[in-house]
Amino acid sequence: MPDAVPDAAIMTDVILNVSDITVEYGTSGKPARAVDQVSLELSRGEFLGIVGESGCGKSTLLFAIAQLLSPPAQLVAGRVTFKGRDMVGLTGEALRTLRWRDYSVVMQSAMNALNPVMTVAAQYDDAMRAHGIGDTTQIRARAREVLALVGIDAVHLKSYPHQLSGGMRQRVMIAMALLLSPDLIVMDEPTSALDVVAQRSLMVQVKELQRRLGFAVIFVTHDMSLVGHFSDRLAVMYAGRIVEIGPTRPLFANPQHPYTRGLLDSFPSVHGPKVHLEGIPGAPPDLADLPSGCRFRPRCPDVMPRCAEVEPALYPAAEADVRCLLYETPHG
Ligand code: ADP
Ligand code: MG
Repeated sequence: MPDAVPDAAIMTDVILNVSDITVEYGTSGKPARAVDQVSLELSRGEFLGIVGESGCGKSTLLFAIAQLLSPPAQLVAGRVTFKGRDMVGLTGEALRTLRWRDYSVVMQSAMNALNPVMTVAAQYDDAMRAHGIGDTTQIRARAREVLALVGIDAVHLKSYPHQLSGGMRQRVMIAMALLLSPDLIVMDEPTSALDVVAQRSLMVQVKELQRRLGFAVIFVTHDMSLVGHFSDRLAVMYAGRIVEIGPTRPLFANPQHPYTRGLLDSFPSVHGPKVHLEGIPGAPPDLADLPSGCRFRPRCPDVMPRCAEVEPALYPAAEADVRCLLYETPHG
């Protein structure tokens, strides 16, 4: 049980290291730099939330981590080390070996990720056979087992994706992600197509599975309130960069970056009405034409003259690292 592992041991057991990742779209003209020098670490069994407005680079970052980028997206710099292995430049063959077995990816829409003309059983069967598990009895048993983990009756092994509700499809995808017991599951807004009640119950289930089985999670969402109760740490992205990263509870209680404060103001409560970014007027910048200095400056309620001149680094503030000149260390 991961609960039995002392915190200190968890913190030193890094399974994923993302170092200075930069991804651009488009080679001609001025490229849009969707992810700009992003670094982060993930410990074994940790639940990291990545939040930010639509278009800030969350999916691109996740795809860069999972080695799923395709043109016109281009990784222009950075390293991804997963379980001690350098992931960048691995061949398709090597990646196929790692995928499902060492890490799984759950996309926003299971309808797109699942094959519409194959039953659930056939898709699970394919994934397991691709990893050398050929024993039909063993495959069937495991398929039933993972479906039970997400609360779906085994009769649905015979179902086609369109015969399932949206919530059930997402559960079927999550169960598939668990088939080979990976150490990491990356999820890109897996609940965003669901209604609020279904979102909540799926989140509770993901969290429960993560506690029980001990895998690490990177969970991307534009809805900060969704990850508040479930993540250990949060990374807030703005215009391709991490602007605040730290342990979830203090980050919610005491947000440091003016953007994080605005995001939190936009979601008055988990159950209350969603006021769309009322705390932050304006829109994120064009990633191919960024403002000088701080990217959040044009929308920032705390803007200072210096913000137009200097692009802030990440500075320690409270329990987080924050990309804001309010926390600039003197002579640093
Ligand atoms: P998020 O997941 O946070 O909504 P994305 O990673 O999907 O953001 O996109 C980040 C930025 O990358 C977009 O704002 C856009 O500028 C650029 N982008 C994404 N997909 C493409 C694409 N297929 N072609 C060109 N630019 C893209
Ligand atoms: Mg996205």
